[in-house]
Amino acid sequence: MSEFAMLSLPEGMEKFGISEAVRTDLLIGGVWRGGSAGKRVEVFDPSTGKVLTSIADGTIEDGIAAVEAAAAAAKSWAATAPRQRGEILRKCWELMMSRAEMFAQLISLENGKALPDARGEVAYAAEFFRWFSEEAVRINGDFSIAPSGNNRIMVQYQPIGVSVLITPWNFPAAMATRKMAPALAAGCTVVLKPATETPLTAFAMAALMEEAGVPKGVVNVVTTSNSGPVVSAMLHHPEVRKLSFTGSTQVGRVLLREAADQVINCSMELGGNAPFVVFDDADLNKALDGAMIAKMRNGGEACTAANRFYVQSGIAERFASGLAQRMGAMKQGAGYGAGVAVGPLINQKAVDRIHGWVQDAVARGASVLTGGTAGGGDGYYYPPTVITKVPADSALVRDEIFGPVAPVTIFETLDEAVALANDSEYGLIAYVYTEDLRKGMQVADRFEAGMVGLNRGIVSDPAAPFGGVKQSGLGREGAHHGILEFCEAKYTAVSW
Ligand code: NAD
Repeated sequence: MSEFAMLSLPEGMEKFGISEAVRTDLLIGGVWRGGSAGKRVEVFDPSTGKVLTSIADGTIEDGIAAVEAAAAAAKSWAATAPRQRGEILRKCWELMMSRAEMFAQLISLENGKALPDARGEVAYAAEFFRWFSEEAVRINGDFSIAPSGNNRIMVQYQPIGVSVLITPWNFPAAMATRKMAPALAAGCTVVLKPATETPLTAFAMAALMEEAGVPKGVVNVVTTSNSGPVVSAMLHHPEVRKLSFTGSTQVGRVLLREAADQVINCSMELGGNAPFVVFDDADLNKALDGAMIAKMRNGGEACTAANRFYVQSGIAERFASGLAQRMGAMKQGAGYGAGVAVGPLINQKAVDRIHGWVQDAVARGASVLTGGTAGGGDGYYYPPTVITKVPADSALVRDEIFGPVAPVTIFETLDEAVALANDSEYGLIAYVYTEDLRKGMQVADRFEAGMVGLNRGIVSDPAAPFGGVKQSGLGREGAHHGILEFCEAKYTAVSW
Protein backbone atom coordinates (compact mmCIF):
# COMPACT_ATOMS: atom_id res chain seq x y z
CA MET A 1 0.00 0.00 0.00
CA SER A 2 1.38 3.39 -0.86
CA GLU A 3 2.07 5.72 2.00
CA PHE A 4 2.33 9.47 1.86
CA ALA A 5 4.55 11.39 4.22
CA MET A 6 3.52 12.39 7.68
CA LEU A 7 5.74 15.45 7.87
CA SER A 8 6.24 17.88 10.72
CA LEU A 9 6.35 20.89 8.45
CA PRO A 10 7.44 24.35 9.60
CA GLU A 11 4.61 26.83 9.73
CA GLY A 12 3.32 28.01 6.35
CA MET A 13 4.91 25.24 4.34
CA GLU A 14 1.74 23.12 3.98
CA LYS A 15 0.61 25.34 1.14
CA PHE A 16 3.36 24.06 -1.14
CA GLY A 17 1.80 20.60 -1.23
CA ILE A 18 4.88 18.84 0.10
CA SER A 19 2.98 16.32 2.23
CA GLU A 20 0.90 15.29 -0.76
CA ALA A 21 3.93 14.87 -3.04
CA VAL A 22 6.37 13.12 -0.77
CA ARG A 23 6.50 9.42 -0.07
CA THR A 24 8.61 7.83 2.62
CA ASP A 25 8.68 4.19 1.50
CA LEU A 26 10.92 2.27 -0.87
CA LEU A 27 9.98 2.03 -4.54
CA ILE A 28 10.65 -1.48 -5.84
CA GLY A 29 9.17 -2.80 -9.07
CA GLY A 30 6.51 -0.09 -9.11
CA VAL A 31 5.35 -0.82 -5.55
CA TRP A 32 5.86 1.61 -2.66
CA ARG A 33 6.58 -0.41 0.43
CA GLY A 34 8.34 -0.44 3.79
CA GLY A 35 11.69 -2.12 4.38
CA SER A 36 11.63 -5.89 4.84
CA ALA A 37 12.77 -5.57 8.47
CA GLY A 38 10.00 -3.05 9.20
CA LYS A 39 12.48 -0.44 10.49
CA ARG A 40 12.41 3.32 9.91
CA VAL A 41 15.12 6.03 9.88
CA GLU A 42 14.50 9.60 10.99
CA VAL A 43 15.06 12.55 8.69
CA PHE A 44 15.96 15.93 10.23
CA ASP A 45 15.45 19.57 9.34
CA PRO A 46 18.98 21.05 9.60
CA SER A 47 17.51 24.53 10.07
CA THR A 48 15.99 23.51 13.43
CA GLY A 49 17.54 20.14 14.29
CA LYS A 50 14.00 18.74 14.63
CA VAL A 51 12.74 15.45 13.22
CA LEU A 52 10.79 15.96 9.99
CA THR A 53 9.61 12.42 9.40
CA SER A 54 10.90 8.87 9.12
CA ILE A 55 11.58 6.81 6.03
CA ALA A 56 11.78 3.11 5.27
CA ASP A 57 15.11 1.58 6.24
CA GLY A 58 16.03 -0.77 3.40
CA THR A 59 17.82 -4.06 4.04
CA ILE A 60 20.14 -6.19 1.94
CA GLU A 61 17.08 -8.16 0.80
CA ASP A 62 15.41 -4.91 -0.31
CA GLY A 63 18.53 -3.91 -2.25
CA ILE A 64 18.56 -7.27 -4.02
CA ALA A 65 14.82 -7.05 -4.71
CA ALA A 66 15.34 -3.62 -6.28
CA VAL A 67 18.14 -4.93 -8.51
CA GLU A 68 15.94 -7.82 -9.59
CA ALA A 69 13.04 -5.49 -10.33
CA ALA A 70 15.38 -3.35 -12.45
CA ALA A 71 16.64 -6.49 -14.21
CA ALA A 72 13.08 -7.65 -14.92
CA ALA A 73 12.24 -4.30 -16.53
CA ALA A 74 15.52 -4.01 -18.45
CA LYS A 75 14.70 -5.76 -21.71
CA SER A 76 11.50 -3.98 -22.48
CA TRP A 77 12.91 -0.57 -21.50
CA ALA A 78 15.97 -1.11 -23.71
CA ALA A 79 13.60 -2.06 -26.54
CA THR A 80 11.42 1.02 -26.05
CA ALA A 81 11.91 3.42 -28.94
CA PRO A 82 14.42 6.17 -28.12
CA ARG A 83 11.83 8.76 -29.11
CA GLN A 84 9.40 7.35 -26.57
CA ARG A 85 12.05 7.29 -23.84
CA GLY A 86 12.83 10.88 -24.74
CA GLU A 87 9.17 11.93 -24.60
CA ILE A 88 8.81 10.46 -21.11
CA LEU A 89 11.91 12.30 -19.91
CA ARG A 90 10.61 15.51 -21.40
CA LYS A 91 7.38 15.01 -19.48
CA CYS A 92 9.49 14.63 -16.31
CA TRP A 93 11.04 18.03 -17.05
CA GLU A 94 7.63 19.62 -17.60
CA LEU A 95 6.18 18.16 -14.41
CA MET A 96 9.20 19.14 -12.35
CA MET A 97 9.14 22.72 -13.60
CA SER A 98 5.38 22.95 -13.01
CA ARG A 99 6.08 22.04 -9.36
CA ALA A 100 9.33 23.95 -9.06
CA GLU A 101 8.40 25.81 -5.90
CA MET A 102 7.27 22.65 -4.12
CA PHE A 103 10.59 20.99 -4.96
CA ALA A 104 12.57 24.06 -3.89
CA GLN A 105 10.81 24.18 -0.51
CA LEU A 106 11.32 20.45 -0.04
CA ILE A 107 15.05 20.63 -0.86
CA SER A 108 15.48 23.55 1.51
CA LEU A 109 13.59 21.69 4.21
CA GLU A 110 15.67 18.53 4.24
CA ASN A 111 19.02 19.93 3.10
CA GLY A 112 18.95 23.37 4.74
CA LYS A 113 20.09 25.36 1.70
CA ALA A 114 18.70 28.85 1.21
CA LEU A 115 15.66 29.05 -1.06
CA PRO A 116 17.40 30.94 -3.89
CA ASP A 117 19.94 28.10 -4.03
CA ALA A 118 17.17 25.50 -3.86
CA ARG A 119 15.28 27.18 -6.70
CA GLY A 120 18.47 27.21 -8.76
CA GLU A 121 18.94 23.52 -8.05
CA VAL A 122 15.42 22.64 -9.20
CA ALA A 123 15.90 24.35 -12.57
CA TYR A 124 19.34 22.75 -12.96
CA ALA A 125 18.06 19.31 -11.94
CA ALA A 126 15.02 19.44 -14.23
CA GLU A 127 17.20 20.52 -17.13
CA PHE A 128 18.94 17.12 -17.09
CA PHE A 129 15.58 15.57 -17.97
CA ARG A 130 15.16 17.95 -20.88
CA TRP A 131 18.76 17.69 -22.09
CA PHE A 132 18.77 13.89 -22.04
CA SER A 133 15.30 13.70 -23.58
CA GLU A 134 17.03 15.29 -26.56
CA GLU A 135 20.14 13.10 -26.35
CA ALA A 136 18.05 9.89 -26.26
CA VAL A 137 17.53 10.13 -30.01
CA ARG A 138 21.16 11.02 -30.81
CA ILE A 139 23.10 7.95 -29.69
CA ASN A 140 24.91 7.70 -33.00
CA GLY A 141 27.17 4.80 -33.90
CA ASP A 142 30.20 4.78 -36.21
CA PHE A 143 30.97 3.13 -39.47
CA SER A 144 34.36 2.93 -41.13
CA ILE A 145 36.60 0.81 -43.33
CA ALA A 146 39.68 -0.73 -41.73
CA PRO A 147 43.03 0.61 -43.01
CA SER A 148 43.72 -2.83 -44.49
CA GLY A 149 40.58 -2.49 -46.59
CA ASN A 150 39.53 -5.99 -45.53
CA ASN A 151 37.00 -5.18 -42.86
CA ARG A 152 34.09 -2.86 -42.37
CA ILE A 153 33.84 -1.60 -38.83
CA MET A 154 30.36 -1.02 -37.49
CA VAL A 155 29.96 0.32 -33.97
CA GLN A 156 26.67 0.71 -32.15
CA TYR A 157 26.04 1.89 -28.60
CA GLN A 158 23.85 -0.38 -26.52
CA PRO A 159 22.50 0.21 -23.00
CA ILE A 160 25.02 -1.00 -20.45
CA GLY A 161 22.35 -2.64 -18.28
CA VAL A 162 21.15 -2.43 -14.69
CA SER A 163 22.74 0.59 -13.04
CA VAL A 164 23.18 1.37 -9.35
CA LEU A 165 23.11 5.12 -8.73
CA ILE A 166 24.34 6.55 -5.42
CA THR A 167 23.91 10.21 -4.60
CA PRO A 168 25.01 12.63 -1.85
CA TRP A 169 22.92 14.99 0.26
CA ASN A 170 24.25 18.32 -1.04
CA PHE A 171 22.19 18.42 -4.27
CA PRO A 172 19.32 16.00 -3.52
CA ALA A 173 17.59 16.62 -6.87
CA ALA A 174 20.36 17.47 -9.32
CA MET A 175 22.74 14.66 -8.44
CA ALA A 176 19.89 12.18 -8.98
CA THR A 177 18.63 13.59 -12.30
CA ARG A 178 22.21 13.92 -13.58
CA LYS A 179 22.34 10.11 -13.35
CA MET A 180 18.74 8.95 -13.86
CA ALA A 181 18.08 11.01 -16.98
CA PRO A 182 21.07 9.75 -19.02
CA ALA A 183 20.61 6.20 -17.75
CA LEU A 184 16.98 6.11 -18.84
CA ALA A 185 17.75 7.91 -22.09
CA ALA A 186 20.36 5.25 -22.89
CA GLY A 187 17.83 2.49 -22.18
CA CYS A 188 19.09 1.38 -18.76
CA THR A 189 17.00 0.58 -15.69
CA VAL A 190 18.21 1.82 -12.31
CA VAL A 191 18.29 1.47 -8.56
CA LEU A 192 18.78 4.85 -6.90
CA LYS A 193 20.20 4.98 -3.40
CA PRO A 194 19.92 8.56 -2.22
CA ALA A 195 21.70 9.91 0.86
CA THR A 196 19.78 9.06 4.02
CA GLU A 197 19.99 12.73 5.10
CA THR A 198 17.96 13.93 2.08
CA PRO A 199 15.76 11.11 0.75
CA LEU A 200 12.46 13.00 0.43
CA THR A 201 13.36 14.83 -2.76
CA ALA A 202 14.41 11.54 -4.35
CA PHE A 203 11.12 9.89 -3.41
CA ALA A 204 9.15 12.87 -4.75
CA MET A 205 11.06 12.73 -8.02
CA ALA A 206 10.51 8.99 -8.39
CA ALA A 207 6.78 9.52 -7.89
CA LEU A 208 6.87 12.27 -10.52
CA MET A 209 8.69 9.97 -12.94
CA GLU A 210 5.99 7.30 -12.48
CA GLU A 211 3.40 9.96 -13.23
CA ALA A 212 5.31 10.96 -16.37
CA GLY A 213 5.02 7.41 -17.67
CA VAL A 214 8.24 5.68 -16.57
CA PRO A 215 7.23 1.98 -16.49
CA LYS A 216 7.30 -0.08 -13.31
CA GLY A 217 10.74 -1.36 -12.34
CA VAL A 218 12.65 1.10 -14.54
CA VAL A 219 13.35 3.37 -11.56
CA ASN A 220 13.66 1.80 -8.11
CA VAL A 221 14.58 3.71 -4.97
CA VAL A 222 16.12 2.19 -1.86
CA THR A 223 17.04 4.18 1.22
CA THR A 224 19.00 2.60 4.04
CA SER A 225 20.90 3.38 7.22
CA ASN A 226 23.18 0.46 6.32
CA SER A 227 24.69 1.77 3.07
CA GLY A 228 27.91 -0.28 3.08
CA PRO A 229 26.41 -3.80 3.22
CA VAL A 230 23.31 -2.95 1.14
CA VAL A 231 25.33 -1.39 -1.68
CA SER A 232 27.94 -4.14 -1.49
CA ALA A 233 25.21 -6.77 -1.95
CA MET A 234 23.86 -4.90 -4.97
CA LEU A 235 27.34 -4.61 -6.50
CA HIS A 236 27.81 -8.37 -6.14
CA HIS A 237 24.55 -9.17 -7.92
CA PRO A 238 25.38 -10.58 -11.36
CA GLU A 239 22.74 -8.41 -13.10
CA VAL A 240 24.40 -5.13 -12.10
CA ARG A 241 26.67 -3.74 -14.84
CA LYS A 242 27.14 -0.12 -13.83
CA LEU A 243 27.87 1.95 -10.73
CA SER A 244 27.45 5.70 -10.94
CA PHE A 245 28.49 7.30 -7.66
CA THR A 246 28.62 10.90 -6.48
CA GLY A 247 30.07 11.49 -3.05
CA SER A 248 33.30 11.65 -1.12
CA THR A 249 36.61 10.34 -2.45
CA GLN A 250 36.88 8.23 0.69
CA VAL A 251 33.67 6.29 -0.01
CA GLY A 252 34.43 6.29 -3.75
CA ARG A 253 37.65 4.37 -3.14
CA VAL A 254 35.73 1.74 -1.13
CA LEU A 255 33.15 1.34 -3.88
CA LEU A 256 35.76 1.03 -6.63
CA ARG A 257 37.18 -1.93 -4.69
CA GLU A 258 33.70 -3.43 -4.28
CA ALA A 259 32.96 -2.97 -7.98
CA ALA A 260 36.22 -4.71 -8.90
CA ASP A 261 34.89 -8.11 -7.83
CA GLN A 262 32.45 -8.20 -10.73
CA VAL A 263 34.37 -5.77 -12.95
CA ILE A 264 31.48 -3.31 -12.90
CA ASN A 265 31.82 -0.19 -15.04
CA CYS A 266 32.19 2.85 -12.72
CA SER A 267 31.55 6.56 -13.07
CA MET A 268 32.79 8.38 -9.99
CA GLU A 269 32.08 12.03 -9.18
CA LEU A 270 34.15 12.56 -6.05
CA GLY A 271 35.45 15.30 -3.81
CA GLY A 272 37.03 18.58 -4.81
CA ASN A 273 39.43 21.16 -3.41
CA ALA A 274 39.01 23.96 -5.91
CA PRO A 275 41.64 26.71 -6.13
CA PHE A 276 40.39 30.20 -7.00
CA VAL A 277 43.24 32.26 -8.46
CA VAL A 278 42.97 36.04 -8.81
CA PHE A 279 45.65 37.99 -10.67
CA ASP A 280 46.47 41.66 -10.07
CA ASP A 281 44.96 42.53 -13.44
CA ALA A 282 41.55 41.04 -12.61
CA ASP A 283 38.48 43.26 -12.42
CA LEU A 284 38.07 43.34 -8.64
CA ASN A 285 34.28 43.53 -8.63
CA LYS A 286 33.88 40.75 -11.15
CA ALA A 287 36.34 38.61 -9.19
CA LEU A 288 34.38 39.23 -6.00
CA ASP A 289 31.08 38.42 -7.72
CA GLY A 290 32.58 35.17 -8.99
CA ALA A 291 34.12 34.38 -5.62
CA MET A 292 30.77 34.79 -3.90
CA ILE A 293 29.10 32.31 -6.24
CA ALA A 294 32.01 29.88 -6.24
CA LYS A 295 32.29 29.95 -2.46
CA MET A 296 28.79 30.57 -1.19
CA ARG A 297 26.45 28.71 -3.55
CA ASN A 298 24.78 26.13 -1.28
CA GLY A 299 26.55 27.73 1.67
CA GLY A 300 29.81 26.22 0.46
CA GLU A 301 28.45 22.67 0.49
CA ALA A 302 29.35 21.96 -3.13
CA CYS A 303 32.06 19.82 -4.69
CA THR A 304 32.73 22.79 -6.97
CA ALA A 305 33.05 25.22 -4.05
CA ALA A 306 36.13 27.44 -4.11
CA ASN A 307 38.16 25.94 -1.29
CA ARG A 308 41.40 27.92 -1.48
CA PHE A 309 41.76 31.51 -2.66
CA TYR A 310 45.17 32.46 -4.11
CA VAL A 311 45.37 36.19 -4.74
CA GLN A 312 48.28 38.14 -6.25
CA SER A 313 49.94 40.56 -3.82
CA GLY A 314 48.90 43.78 -5.61
CA ILE A 315 45.16 43.08 -5.20
CA ALA A 316 45.17 40.71 -2.21
CA GLU A 317 44.25 43.13 0.55
CA ARG A 318 41.39 44.74 -1.38
CA PHE A 319 40.10 41.31 -2.46
CA ALA A 320 40.20 39.86 1.08
CA SER A 321 38.48 42.86 2.66
CA GLY A 322 35.88 42.99 -0.14
CA LEU A 323 35.14 39.29 0.30
CA ALA A 324 34.90 39.68 4.08
CA GLN A 325 32.52 42.60 3.67
CA ARG A 326 30.24 40.66 1.27
CA MET A 327 30.32 37.38 3.17
CA GLY A 328 29.83 39.12 6.52
CA ALA A 329 26.71 40.86 5.16
CA MET A 330 24.92 37.63 4.21
CA LYS A 331 21.76 36.93 6.16
CA GLN A 332 21.96 33.52 7.81
CA GLY A 333 18.97 31.57 9.05
CA ALA A 334 16.58 28.74 8.27
CA GLY A 335 17.07 27.91 4.59
CA TYR A 336 13.39 28.50 3.87
CA GLY A 337 13.29 31.77 5.88
CA ALA A 338 12.48 35.03 4.11
CA GLY A 339 15.51 36.88 2.76
CA VAL A 340 17.94 34.22 3.95
CA ALA A 341 21.07 33.94 1.81
CA VAL A 342 22.87 31.21 3.72
CA GLY A 343 21.29 28.35 5.61
CA PRO A 344 22.66 25.84 8.11
CA LEU A 345 25.15 23.05 7.42
CA ILE A 346 23.84 19.52 7.07
CA ASN A 347 24.52 18.41 10.65
CA GLN A 348 26.36 19.23 13.87
CA LYS A 349 29.29 17.05 12.88
CA ALA A 350 29.94 19.35 9.92
CA VAL A 351 29.83 22.43 12.18
CA ASP A 352 32.27 20.87 14.65
CA ARG A 353 34.66 19.74 11.92
CA ILE A 354 34.81 23.14 10.24
CA HIS A 355 35.10 25.06 13.49
CA GLY A 356 37.90 22.74 14.57
CA TRP A 357 39.80 23.49 11.37
CA VAL A 358 39.32 27.26 11.77
CA GLN A 359 40.47 27.13 15.40
CA ASP A 360 43.52 25.08 14.44
CA ALA A 361 44.50 27.62 11.75
CA VAL A 362 44.00 30.53 14.19
CA ALA A 363 46.10 28.80 16.84
CA ARG A 364 48.87 28.64 14.21
CA GLY A 365 48.76 32.32 13.31
CA ALA A 366 45.81 32.79 10.92
CA SER A 367 43.67 35.97 11.10
CA VAL A 368 39.88 35.93 10.92
CA LEU A 369 38.44 38.88 8.95
CA THR A 370 34.80 37.91 9.47
CA GLY A 371 32.95 35.01 11.12
CA GLY A 372 34.94 32.31 12.87
CA THR A 373 32.63 31.63 15.82
CA ALA A 374 30.37 28.57 15.99
CA GLY A 375 26.64 29.30 16.19
CA GLY A 376 25.03 27.57 19.16
CA GLY A 377 21.25 27.28 19.54
CA ASP A 378 19.01 25.08 17.39
CA GLY A 379 20.04 24.10 13.89
CA TYR A 380 23.53 23.58 12.51
CA TYR A 381 24.88 27.04 11.74
CA TYR A 382 28.37 28.25 10.96
CA PRO A 383 28.85 31.88 9.91
CA PRO A 384 30.41 32.93 6.60
CA THR A 385 34.10 33.25 7.47
CA VAL A 386 37.09 34.81 5.71
CA ILE A 387 40.50 33.90 7.07
CA THR A 388 44.01 34.91 5.99
CA LYS A 389 47.59 33.80 6.80
CA VAL A 390 46.43 30.17 6.93
CA PRO A 391 49.42 27.77 7.15
CA ALA A 392 49.87 25.83 3.89
CA ASP A 393 49.54 22.47 5.66
CA SER A 394 46.30 23.44 7.42
CA ALA A 395 43.23 21.21 6.93
CA LEU A 396 41.41 24.32 5.64
CA VAL A 397 43.71 24.29 2.62
CA ARG A 398 44.49 20.58 2.26
CA ASP A 399 40.97 19.16 2.75
CA GLU A 400 37.53 19.83 1.37
CA ILE A 401 35.92 22.42 3.70
CA PHE A 402 32.34 21.91 2.48
CA GLY A 403 31.13 25.00 4.29
CA PRO A 404 31.18 28.82 4.24
CA VAL A 405 34.86 29.39 5.04
CA ALA A 406 37.24 31.15 2.64
CA PRO A 407 41.00 30.93 3.30
CA VAL A 408 42.88 33.64 1.36
CA THR A 409 46.59 33.19 0.57
CA ILE A 410 48.88 35.68 -1.23
CA PHE A 411 51.10 34.75 -4.19
CA GLU A 412 53.62 36.69 -6.29
CA THR A 413 54.18 34.95 -9.65
CA LEU A 414 52.07 33.03 -12.18
CA ASP A 415 54.21 29.92 -11.79
CA GLU A 416 53.74 30.05 -8.03
CA ALA A 417 49.95 30.35 -8.43
CA VAL A 418 49.80 27.35 -10.77
CA ALA A 419 52.01 25.27 -8.46
CA LEU A 420 49.85 26.13 -5.44
CA ALA A 421 46.65 25.40 -7.37
CA ASN A 422 47.88 21.98 -8.51
CA ASP A 423 49.27 21.00 -5.12
CA SER A 424 46.33 18.74 -4.25
CA GLU A 425 45.27 15.13 -4.70
CA TYR A 426 41.97 16.49 -6.03
CA GLY A 427 41.36 17.88 -9.51
CA LEU A 428 37.68 18.64 -10.01
CA ILE A 429 37.60 22.33 -10.87
CA ALA A 430 39.82 25.42 -10.76
CA TYR A 431 38.92 29.09 -11.16
CA VAL A 432 41.02 31.94 -12.50
CA TYR A 433 40.31 35.67 -12.79
CA THR A 434 42.37 37.93 -15.07
CA GLU A 435 41.54 40.53 -17.71
CA ASP A 436 44.39 39.10 -19.83
CA LEU A 437 42.66 36.33 -21.78
CA ARG A 438 45.93 34.92 -23.08
CA LYS A 439 47.25 34.53 -19.57
CA GLY A 440 43.93 33.06 -18.44
CA MET A 441 43.97 30.44 -21.20
CA GLN A 442 47.58 29.53 -20.45
CA VAL A 443 46.78 29.07 -16.78
CA ALA A 444 43.61 27.09 -17.65
CA ASP A 445 45.78 24.74 -19.76
CA ARG A 446 48.14 24.19 -16.84
CA PHE A 447 45.49 23.53 -14.19
CA GLU A 448 45.22 19.88 -13.24
CA ALA A 449 41.42 19.89 -13.18
CA GLY A 450 38.54 18.43 -15.16
CA MET A 451 36.84 21.83 -15.33
CA VAL A 452 37.97 25.45 -15.33
CA GLY A 453 36.06 28.64 -14.61
CA LEU A 454 37.82 31.45 -16.49
CA ASN A 455 36.36 34.73 -15.22
CA ARG A 456 33.36 32.70 -14.07
CA GLY A 457 32.35 31.55 -10.60
CA ILE A 458 30.02 28.81 -11.83
CA VAL A 459 30.48 26.29 -14.61
CA SER A 460 27.74 23.66 -14.04
CA ASP A 461 25.62 23.17 -17.14
CA PRO A 462 23.73 20.05 -18.30
CA ALA A 463 25.12 20.63 -21.78
CA ALA A 464 28.75 20.50 -20.57
CA PRO A 465 30.84 17.51 -19.42
CA PHE A 466 31.12 17.65 -15.63
CA GLY A 467 33.83 15.68 -13.86
CA GLY A 468 37.26 15.58 -12.37
CA VAL A 469 40.80 14.27 -12.80
CA LYS A 470 43.19 12.84 -10.20
CA GLN A 471 41.27 11.69 -7.10
CA SER A 472 38.19 13.75 -7.98
CA GLY A 473 36.82 10.96 -10.11
CA LEU A 474 36.37 8.97 -13.27
CA GLY A 475 34.03 9.73 -16.15
CA ARG A 476 31.80 12.68 -16.98
CA GLU A 477 28.15 13.62 -16.42
CA GLY A 478 26.09 15.89 -18.62
CA ALA A 479 26.70 16.74 -22.29
CA HIS A 480 26.80 13.82 -24.73
CA HIS A 481 29.50 12.23 -22.56
CA GLY A 482 26.89 11.62 -19.85
CA ILE A 483 24.79 9.27 -21.96
CA LEU A 484 27.81 7.33 -23.20
CA GLU A 485 28.64 6.46 -19.56
CA PHE A 486 25.51 4.28 -19.69
CA CYS A 487 26.32 2.66 -23.04
CA GLU A 488 28.63 -0.09 -24.24
CA ALA A 489 30.21 0.18 -27.66
CA LYS A 490 29.53 -2.96 -29.67
CA TYR A 491 31.74 -3.52 -32.70
CA THR A 492 30.62 -5.81 -35.48
CA ALA A 493 33.08 -6.69 -38.24
CA VAL A 494 31.18 -6.79 -41.51
CA SER A 495 31.97 -8.20 -44.93
CA TRP A 496 29.70 -8.28 -47.92
P1 NAD B 1 29.45 10.41 1.13
O1 NAD B 1 30.55 9.82 0.33
O2 NAD B 1 29.54 10.31 2.60
O3 NAD B 1 28.07 9.75 0.72
C1 NAD B 1 27.64 9.71 -0.62
C2 NAD B 1 26.61 8.59 -0.78
O4 NAD B 1 27.26 7.35 -0.52
C3 NAD B 1 25.43 8.67 0.17
O5 NAD B 1 24.30 8.17 -0.48
C4 NAD B 1 25.85 7.73 1.30
O6 NAD B 1 24.74 7.19 2.00
C5 NAD B 1 26.56 6.64 0.50
N1 NAD B 1 27.53 5.87 1.26
C6 NAD B 1 28.26 6.24 2.34
N2 NAD B 1 29.07 5.24 2.72
C7 NAD B 1 28.86 4.21 1.86
C8 NAD B 1 29.40 2.91 1.71
N3 NAD B 1 30.33 2.44 2.53
N4 NAD B 1 28.95 2.14 0.71
C9 NAD B 1 28.02 2.59 -0.14
N5 NAD B 1 27.46 3.81 -0.08
C10 NAD B 1 27.88 4.62 0.93
O7 NAD B 1 29.32 11.92 0.63
P2 NAD B 1 28.31 13.03 1.16
O8 NAD B 1 28.79 13.50 2.49
O9 NAD B 1 26.90 12.60 1.02
O10 NAD B 1 28.52 14.18 0.06
C11 NAD B 1 29.58 15.04 0.10
C12 NAD B 1 30.70 14.61 -0.82
O11 NAD B 1 30.19 14.43 -2.14
C13 NAD B 1 31.80 15.64 -0.94
O12 NAD B 1 33.05 15.01 -0.90
C14 NAD B 1 31.55 16.26 -2.32
O13 NAD B 1 32.68 16.83 -2.91
C15 NAD B 1 31.06 15.10 -3.06
N6 NAD B 1 30.31 15.54 -4.24
C16 NAD B 1 30.90 15.42 -5.46
C17 NAD B 1 30.22 15.87 -6.59
C18 NAD B 1 30.86 15.74 -7.95
O14 NAD B 1 30.12 15.85 -8.92
N7 NAD B 1 32.13 15.49 -8.08
C19 NAD B 1 28.96 16.45 -6.47
C20 NAD B 1 28.39 16.57 -5.20
C21 NAD B 1 29.09 16.11 -4.10
